[in-house]
Amino acid sequence: MSGSAPAVPAARPVIGEAEIEAAVRVLRSGRVVQGPEVAAFEEEFGEQLVDGLHCVAVNSGTSALQLSLMALGIGRGDEVVVPSFSFAASANAVRLVGAEPVFADIDPVTYCLDPSAAAAVIGPRTVAVMPVHLYGHPADMDRIMKLAGRHNLAIVEDACQAHGALLHGRPVGGFGSAAAFSFYPTKNMHALEGGMIATDDSELARTLRLLRNQGMEERYANEIVGANMRMTDVAAAIGRVQLGQLPEWTERRRANAKTLDSLLESVGTPQAGDGVQHVYHQYTVRVPGGHRDALADALRERGIGCAVYYPTPIHRLRPYNDPARPPLPETDRACEAVLSLPVHPGVGEGELRRIAEAVNEVMADLEADA
Ligand SMILES: *Cc1c(COP(=O)(O)O)cnc(C)c1O
Repeated sequence: MSGSAPAVPAARPVIGEAEIEAAVRVLRSGRVVQGPEVAAFEEEFGEQLVDGLHCVAVNSGTSALQLSLMALGIGRGDEVVVPSFSFAASANAVRLVGAEPVFADIDPVTYCLDPSAAAAVIGPRTVAVMPVHLYGHPADMDRIMKLAGRHNLAIVEDACQAHGALLHGRPVGGFGSAAAFSFYPTKNMHALEGGMIATDDSELARTLRLLRNQGMEERYANEIVGANMRMTDVAAAIGRVQLGQLPEWTERRRANAKTLDSLLESVGTPQAGDGVQHVYHQYTVRVPGGHRDALADALRERGIGCAVYYPTPIHRLRPYNDPARPPLPETDRACEAVLSLPVHPGVGEGELRRIAEAVNEVMADLEADA
């Protein structure tokens, strides 16, 4: 029915003239790796997004998580509590430092780590907890910080989907010992690839700077064993342009979400809890009646990009699949019922109406047939 109407993509990464000019300017300057653009990006990101915390730029969000764990001394024999309802990178970072992720269930409303479920899996080897601010909604940091305090655990926030999200007016990334952001093209802002670590601990920040650069501050005076996880100045220059746009883009995402909230009928819309500023990396609905896949197929037929984050929970992926693991019922239920609809700043008012009309019509048909 909508063969001639334009498709609404699930994501639309921006690479505009300003990003291209910034990249060319850096390429012409000849200073291309971890130079002045990276330093400026760290400074500006710190000021604008995390209340002036120390910021350390790296080459990806996964590297940001991995280096945060390493800098905290987490490794072999240690366990880290991680939600299974996340991108595999959350757990991969734990395994990559030699530690073991222990999966805990989620809150069915926010889709973030359930603090009670996290408490239940803490054991003698547990040294840290990794809340994920999934879809741009802050995890329940009040209760997670109390829990971590009681058990003397480090907190590493996975803020890869939550640039600019707030809880009680405080930015995500400022609650833990360290926090990781991603600049992958589909995130709320990007740098082609890239990541940022935020921390209030200046010693930890110094260790992170060493770890990302072969353990060197002074060239060839290596102090510790490190990796090469440097950000290029081309990426940083693009990231700075995007950072300047982020407040406007966040407002657009929030306004788009509000419009969808008001138009959608028979699906569960995302709920932002008390004191939460949700930044809608994804606008994720819960589809009742087992109709998720049928709804997704019908929307795609109508040119509406939609996606399932995540179809398989991490604890069921091959590297992590342990039949003896306790069940994670809310995680499994979410994987079967969630569907993310386009909410990015490139979606216009008319497209939002088209999306909502399509969802409402298809759901009415599916429910009538059932
Ligand atoms: C994107 C993402 C990551 C990894 O970031 P990359 O930059 O792709 O390495 C980690 N965790 C979550 C929740 C993410 O969405």
